[in-house]
Amino acid sequence: MSSSQGFDEQVPLGVYLHAPFCVSHCTYCDFYTKAYSDGSQVRTFAEALAAGVRNSSEDLEVTGRAVDTLYFGGGTPSLLEPADLEKVMESLRATFRLLPGVEISMEANPESIRREKLRAFRSLGVNRLSLGVQSFQPAILSTLGRAHTARRAMEAIEDARAAGFDNVSFDLMLALPGQGRETVKRDLQTSLSLEPDHLSVYLLEMDKQSALRARIERGELPAPTEDDAAEQYELTRAALTRAGFLHYELSNFAHRDKQCKHNLKYWTDMPFVGFGPSAWSYLAGRRFRELADLEGYLEAAQRGVPPQREGMEGGVEERLEEAIFAGLRLIEGIDLADVGRAYGVEDPLGERRQAILDLEEAGFIRLDGSRLRLTRRSYTIANEIFEVFV
Ligand code: SF4
Repeated sequence: MSSSQGFDEQVPLGVYLHAPFCVSHCTYCDFYTKAYSDGSQVRTFAEALAAGVRNSSEDLEVTGRAVDTLYFGGGTPSLLEPADLEKVMESLRATFRLLPGVEISMEANPESIRREKLRAFRSLGVNRLSLGVQSFQPAILSTLGRAHTARRAMEAIEDARAAGFDNVSFDLMLALPGQGRETVKRDLQTSLSLEPDHLSVYLLEMDKQSALRARIERGELPAPTEDDAAEQYELTRAALTRAGFLHYELSNFAHRDKQCKHNLKYWTDMPFVGFGPSAWSYLAGRRFRELADLEGYLEAAQRGVPPQREGMEGGVEERLEEAIFAGLRLIEGIDLADVGRAYGVEDPLGERRQAILDLEEAGFIRLDGSRLRLTRRSYTIANEIFEVFV
């Protein structure tokens, strides 16, 4: 796949929908979220989102475009009731041409779903579930401020299977305060016993502002070290690949054909459109998002106008750099010849070439012909590697 496809109206779009509500705020989270109060709050939002899909699509001139992935993220989109989701799905079907086999993912938190609700979501077309599990250790769930217990997380996975989902993913976190080799091993054993189709494994990001980071900085919780992160990540990578998972992106592992098609668009420079407060779009080479302002979003829907957006200005050089960074998150790396063709440049590395060669010399990156990829020792320090050649 190449970036030029991002400008081609024949290329199917990915659609992201952001539902901002959460029952509580996790201590490590820096996403745009709003406290969940009751079902009527979510119902009002779902009506606004359905209107926002229509109004923004018209304004962005994407009405009628073919769509092959839908992704409900948040926040906690599983707080929507089936009737709320139905309204949004009706709007999506009326606005876009959903292709046969469209992947429809929903993020779900274990406390907000039960078997019947999942059955209803499944019958509305949701065919991929991504569960926010994070850990099966009660003490760690408490440190993270998660609203569910380990038992509820396990039941939620069983509920998803019973409701007919054959594509179930869940998230795990590593490099957390108080987490050691043994707790990671126990979480991996439990995870594998639940037979997920896909797993996302994230390291705690210490460069983001969060309540958890503040507690670590005040010395109330032990600080995870880079060595802890590398050891736990490698342990996880080895266990999952041994169990037959394909490690296809730095944080993602999948069984055959169960890679997340929507998220692959982000890493392969493909176009997507986002709806809902704080949702990003990438269309015709432009990145922009709807404002992270729920009240403004609801008001725009009432007035029948698209919500306000803010854009990131960036020339070809910035976009090319982003395409390289995103592609390097894939374990297979990126084909620089494709990138060059897509952006109309002969040498996409340009002035970065010497820095890349130095990184290769030091064993952090590999350049095979036109294919550039990170080596295994860079997987937990990818952001630092990217900074070297910005
Ligand atoms: S459930 Fe997800 S979005 Fe909501 S606060 Fe927790 S981490 Fe953030």
